[in-house]
Amino acid sequence: MKIGFIGLGIMGKPMSLNLIKAGYQLVVLDLNASAVAELVAAGAETAGSPREVAERTEVIITMLPNSPQVKEVVLGERGVLEGARKGSVVIDMSSIAPLVSRELAAELAGHGVDMLDAPVSGGQPKAIDGTLSVMVGGPQEVFDRYYPVMKAMAGSVVRTGDIGAGNVTKLANQIIVALNIAAMAEALVLATKAGVEPELVWQAIRGGLAGSTVLDAKAPLVMDRKFQPGFRINLHIKDLANVLETSHQLGVPLPLTASVMEMMQALKTDGQGDADHCSLVRYYEKMAQVEVHRKA
Ligand code: NAD
Repeated sequence: MKIGFIGLGIMGKPMSLNLIKAGYQLVVLDLNASAVAELVAAGAETAGSPREVAERTEVIITMLPNSPQVKEVVLGERGVLEGARKGSVVIDMSSIAPLVSRELAAELAGHGVDMLDAPVSGGQPKAIDGTLSVMVGGPQEVFDRYYPVMKAMAGSVVRTGDIGAGNVTKLANQIIVALNIAAMAEALVLATKAGVEPELVWQAIRGGLAGSTVLDAKAPLVMDRKFQPGFRINLHIKDLANVLETSHQLGVPLPLTASVMEMMQALKTDGQGDADHCSLVRYYEKMAQVEVHRKA
């Protein structure tokens, strides 16, 4: 089976490498020539446009920043829709607005092309290990047919409903991750200012109810002052904007999400948009006039 892969960034590059390792032939595309060159060195072919990717493959995976880029690549000039054949499938693994997933699927269905929205969780380390969590929306039989492709990049692949359900699930995921990071930041800043070593606080509480995957992944990065992404503040802002737009449309107030969104906006204004989202701690550090280190 020949697979097209469009978007070879922090996530897409390791994901596509795992597909090659699993034995799939790839045709890749990105605006960044050096990312393409890395994949070509690993055995992938390349193409001049999304249309050409779609002409030469039956499965087209997209891993792009947000809704506008996915719309452009799928529906734009020389886009996937122009090249896709009847029976092809678009698997969009980007995190985008659920409503846009539904629009795209409807447009593609008009041309006999299937679609799954299949955003992921787990970040760069799990993309490299091939242990991502994939949350999928779309018809059961399309999900079943392409399950092995998604499983080649993932530890778990779960269908949560019809088209758009994958991205609704991802929005829920991003609320929980953002609020967890904020809670961790508040706790570690408090401990530091109180003169208690944050590392010992982490060790003492990580096995209890306060323990979490977020705490174990991000507390060491904060204490070691490693703020290179990972997952950029700007991308989390994008996700929370999608969360709040969707929640407002549905009439669901989300006061905690709105607060963390404003903290992230402050960090962006402070020039930290490209830092990892655990740099949320620096928002609290500035207010408390303290810095969290492994040894306080
Ligand atoms: P990234 O910015 O590192 O990568 C995006 C890639 O898309 C870039 O290489 C860019 O050149 C390419 N691109 C943009 N527009 C394009 C176009 N028109 N044609 C071809 N290529 C184009 O982002 P990322 O961190 O890899 O994230 C990708 C998606 O995965 C986002 O929706 C993000 O929210 C989601 N996600 C990221 C993480 C993470 O930890 N980084 C975790 C889970 C989900």
